[in-house]
Amino acid sequence: MSGDGVHRAAGVISIGDELALGQTLDTNSMWISARLAERGVAVRRHATIADDQGAIAAEIARFAAELDLVVVTGGLGPTADDLTRQALAEAMGDELVTDDAALAEVRSWFESSGRSMPEANAVQALRPAGAAMLPNAHGTAPGLRARLERADVFCFPGPPTELRPMFDRDVLPMLRTDSVVVTRLLRTAGAGESAIAERLGGLMDRDRNPLVGTTASEGVITVRIRYEGADRAEGGRLVDEAAEAVRREVGAYCFGEADETLAEVLVRELTARHETVTTVESCTGGLVAAALTDVPGSSAVFARGLVTYSNDVKAELVGVPAWVFAKQGAVSRACVEAMARGGLEASGASHAIAVSGIAGPDGGTDEKPVGTVWTCRASADGTSDARRLHLKGSREQVRRRSTVMAMVLLWLKLRGAEELRVLAQV
Ligand code: AMP
Ligand code: MG
Repeated sequence: MSGDGVHRAAGVISIGDELALGQTLDTNSMWISARLAERGVAVRRHATIADDQGAIAAEIARFAAELDLVVVTGGLGPTADDLTRQALAEAMGDELVTDDAALAEVRSWFESSGRSMPEANAVQALRPAGAAMLPNAHGTAPGLRARLERADVFCFPGPPTELRPMFDRDVLPMLRTDSVVVTRLLRTAGAGESAIAERLGGLMDRDRNPLVGTTASEGVITVRIRYEGADRAEGGRLVDEAAEAVRREVGAYCFGEADETLAEVLVRELTARHETVTTVESCTGGLVAAALTDVPGSSAVFARGLVTYSNDVKAELVGVPAWVFAKQGAVSRACVEAMARGGLEASGASHAIAVSGIAGPDGGTDEKPVGTVWTCRASADGTSDARRLHLKGSREQVRRRSTVMAMVLLWLKLRGAEELRVLAQV
């Protein structure tokens, strides 16, 4: 640690041929870094190292000389290519010794599932003489903890389901930081990222604390508010103030906080009102239905989902009249209105949402280029709301963004903001 015992700078090392060769995505570094950043520990360096003992040992030593905290993941399995414990011992100049408690634990892990321990797994009970074992409740490989140079060094198994609970149990409680971080996330939909940024204006200046930033993902723009400083109470107050200012500017588009999804908010709102929804989808092929039924408890509100992909099926299942295809085409206001009305009648639901568009890459025309999507919400109270969207991106992006925008129309209805202009330059 930096003389004063504070974990200021951290590094993450990911071990494995599969990561170095691009066969597996290194999600551990991302997850660990975000976790540390939340606690006010700055991650200064990432490294990915193939399964090579000398290279791993050298990297651990280099990190430990310069950083206060080093987190290593991967390479703790029982096979010949798992070399992290040997590498840590090499970096520490220690012998590997058998840890009797760990050996008993690995053995009982196998016995609890009715198997006897393969000899190869005995290696997982080895640790550098000066390191401590960290039990693993979700797998056979224990982790390791040691002091090296100025750093606290942790080694964890690679599988995220094992690493994450161990990190939370073993690293978070021992962290010493001299700054606190307070964050809040506001989730918006219906407006593009630049439209949101424009409304936020000076709130997004980079020299402010709390810092306000945005990230866009699949049609949802998240506004992140982050305070970093010495005083948690003051941080909380400043973050709340900033959140209020953000809501003043973009509140109309804000549907939730933290990691709430639009589908979750819709299911919650519909449940509270004892209302139901049906979906009639063309270019999204069931993605809206999938998003809604992803939410636990959606059976109380989800009436039925129809995928009406061809014109014949649009006519047969939801009664889109032939003149609509002849005069307006399947991607038109008339078509999505007929789809939504037909869906409402067929299901007896409180609301229907319909989507029809050109996802691409082919099928666009001058008049209706790829990314032209019509979506309509119709409700049993007789109201309806149809919008034309101009979406950019690949087929997948157009389909995902259409899915969000279709849900936005229902959400505008539920919050009584049907007149709100959709500002999606997405
Ligand atoms: P290991 O602990 O090296 O035996 O890793 C076992 C498995 O964990 C690998 O096959 C990967 O599927 C996964 N894994 C290892 N490192 C990472 C990482 N940095 N990010 C995501 N998954 C990982
Ligand atoms: Mg490995």
